[in-house]
Amino acid sequence: MTLVEVRNIKKYFPVTKGFIDSLMARDAQYVRAVDGISFKIKKGEVLGLAGESGSGKTTTGRLCVRLLRPTEGEIIYDGKDIAKLKGRELRMIRRRIQFTFQDPTSSLNPRLGIGNAIGDALRLQGIGDSKERFQRTEEILERVGLSPASSFYNRLPHQLSGGQKQRVVFGRAIILNPEFVVTDEPVAMVDVSIKAQILDLMMDLKKELNLTYLFISHDLATSRHVCDRIAVMYLGKIVEVADKDSIYEDPLHPYSVGLMSAIPVPNPQVKKAEAVPRGEIPSPINPPSGCRFHPRCPKAFERCPNEEPELLDLGDGRMVACHLYG
Ligand code: SF4
Repeated sequence: MTLVEVRNIKKYFPVTKGFIDSLMARDAQYVRAVDGISFKIKKGEVLGLAGESGSGKTTTGRLCVRLLRPTEGEIIYDGKDIAKLKGRELRMIRRRIQFTFQDPTSSLNPRLGIGNAIGDALRLQGIGDSKERFQRTEEILERVGLSPASSFYNRLPHQLSGGQKQRVVFGRAIILNPEFVVTDEPVAMVDVSIKAQILDLMMDLKKELNLTYLFISHDLATSRHVCDRIAVMYLGKIVEVADKDSIYEDPLHPYSVGLMSAIPVPNPQVKKAEAVPRGEIPSPINPPSGCRFHPRCPKAFERCPNEEPELLDLGDGRMVACHLYG
């Protein structure tokens, strides 16, 4: 059963005009952070969103939980379009969908005790009285491994390690009993030794609370451990979708091939260095014509700069946007 369906969403951010631009009446410019993407997430599934910085992953995640309003498109959540919800309706849907930010330090108020940081969502949603909220917060602290809860409740964020702060972030995300959590680079800011513990916590919560995740990460080795399927993004577009084994064993899109070949392996001899995408990701203000990947693609041919490839369904849940296929 599909829980989330994103239909052709776009998010364009206006670029502030300089004095000279205004004087010369130059046209407004837009950063096309997300430029017409569609995908579905099944209930109970973990969909990974992969790609370099600037590919539009975080903006996509924020759109899915309506921290941002799309410029165009639909976000169907449990059968209802939430793209244009406002006010009370949006607040009610926020009980069911949550987001965890990449940097736990900057996402926590340095002057607010972590018990209050976690329990505040209950107060804002008008759930329970202060005693019930306190009890529920203590339960959540214990559940995310900050035990005994009484010794953590009043601690300030600076009194916690990076891993403990990430546990607070997950506690804050689950206190309202959500169904869908978008988690943005959840282990990017923690030590390698703590990474596995945070990922285990994330997957335990998934099992216990029957969660569905959109897992955003540039770290493909990590995504392989937790995701069921992976969608690869490049410059605001999805270029390939497949189950995790297919995409890791046999990536089709030249960009996915490059990303996979950049994953560190114990024996560097088996790395296909020539497949790593050359150069930097271009500006999303003026993306390249045709296939946006063509200036960096080792397989580009005449058709590529002139015609944008469609995201083709190759069957078995596999999709690719490249003129080499179909
Ligand atoms: Fe490379 Fe052309 Fe495929 Fe784009 S469409 S990925 S440029 S081969």
